[in-house]
Amino acid sequence: MSTYICPGCDYLYDEAAGDPREGWPPGTAFADLDPDWCCPDCGVREAQDFVLATNSA
Ligand SMILES: [Zn+2]
Repeated sequence: MSTYICPGCDYLYDEAAGDPREGWPPGTAFADLDPDWCCPDCGVREAQDFVLATNSA
């Protein structure tokens, strides 16, 4: 699983942890997020703007 970071506010999306607050259960792949989903912290950046932070199989 990988983690992705918001380039605007450093919010980190961890695929292994998901983000239940946003409705993503643990294990939700970043590719499975709604492409129109916006960063929950800054609300400016969208999923497509996120940058791969770590990539561990
Ligand atoms: Zn953000």
